[in-house]
This record gives sequence, C-alpha cells and structure tokens, in this order.
Amino acid sequence: MQIAIDGPSGAGKSTLSKQIAAKLNFVYIDTGAMYRAAGLACLRAGISIRENPEAAAALTKESDIDITLSETGQRIFLNGEDVTTLIRTPEVSMAASDVSAIPAVRLQLVDLQRKLAASRDVIMDGRDIGTYVLPDAPIKIFLTATPETRAKRRHLELIERGQACTYEEVLADMAERDKNDSTRAFAPLKPAPDSILVDTSELSFDESLDALLAIIKERL
Ligand code: C5P
Repeated sequence: MQIAIDGPSGAGKSTLSKQIAAKLNFVYIDTGAMYRAAGLACLRAGISIRENPEAAAALTKESDIDITLSETGQRIFLNGEDVTTLIRTPEVSMAASDVSAIPAVRLQLVDLQRKLAASRDVIMDGRDIGTYVLPDAPIKIFLTATPETRAKRRHLELIERGQACTYEEVLADMAERDKNDSTRAFAPLKPAPDSILVDTSELSFDESLDALLAIIKERL
C-alpha cells in the first residue's frame, strides 16, 4: 500500500505523515531529506548550484545518499555520516530546492525512492510523489495552507530548534522555494489530478490528522 502526500513546505506534511505512519503501521519516507542531503553536499563542496548545475549533479552522483527506516523514524546518511539534524537549516533548505531542479539529481533520487517504496507499506511525502514518483498510489493527498500560516509554523519550528531567524525571513525564503518548486520544468510541485486537496490553514494539528485519517481509512 502506498500513500502519497505532496504540498508546499510548512503545510504539515512530515509531522502528519509520521503520526499516520505510527497509527497505521506504515513506514514514513521523507523524500525532502534526500534533496537536503544533496544540497548539503554541494554547500560543503562550495558549489554554486544555480551557476553550475553540472557540478552539482556530478557531486550528487558520486555521493552516497542513503536512508535507514525504522519505527523510531528515518535517518539520512551522506557518505556514511548521519546528517539527519544537520540538514534542517534555512541554507540547506534553499540548496535542496536549487539542487532539486536538476533533472539528473531527481532521476537519481527518485530511483532510490521507488526502491524504498517497492517492498513495504509506505506513506511518502514530497512535492512530486503523486504526480511522478508513485503515480499509481491509491491514496494521494495534496496538503496546503496559506503562505502566512505555513511561515508561522516553520518559524516556530526553527525557533524551537534554537535557530535565530525572523518570521519575515522565513516567509520570504518560503515564497522563493515555492516559486522554485512549482515553476521548475521537471516534476514541479502540483496536485495530481486524482489527489484530494486538504487545506490545513484553519485546522489544528489534531483536526488535520483526523481529516487525513478519515480520507485514508475510507480508501484502505
Ligand atoms: O520537504 P522539504 O522542505 O524537506 O524539501 C526540501 C526541498 O526539496 C523542497 O523545497 C523541494 O525543492 C525539494 N523536494 C523536491 N521533491 C520532493 C521532495 C523535496 O523537489 N519529492
């Protein structure tokens, strides 16, 4: 069984997907973490991704990006190093968005994503899961919320993690990433025609969770 969750950042995809996975005994796969690991590799190598996409693609190809899945969550490794927490910074978010626009990078990571989903019940979140990675997933949800709501949530998350940033910076970063992600040529962010749209702007976390569980249980 495959459940595809797509949508812009800050819509609540990962927190909700984790909870759903725990409740339904599915494995949660966060595909954004893979693009983040590739972005981190480029940042460390000093590659300017927008100016030199060929070098970014070559570096990603020779990097060993791997994830381990378990009940306690997913861990992501870059060349054997656990980078799970290191990839959660605004710089890496932007690098991930830039590197994810490169077709060769997408093909490499999509291959890994499909392999991971092939042999288990998964709930996978990202931007192109329902449209490109798992087009036959029987349950597809497109999760969204207003930019202001999403930025507010992401800002709170970063502050709780001890990262200094303002709401305005988060809102601006998010607008740039949204634009990047939805205007790229290859597998852009957009709802699959057969996806169910859920707007979480006016919903609490528990209400969002209930809404998604109701949709999923009806189709399981
Ligand atoms: O979901 P998250 O914010 O961690 O993703 C980081 C970036 O990776 C996104 O802004 C997007 O550019 C890219 N991404 C993608 N396709 C996916 C998942 C993430 O292009 N399936």
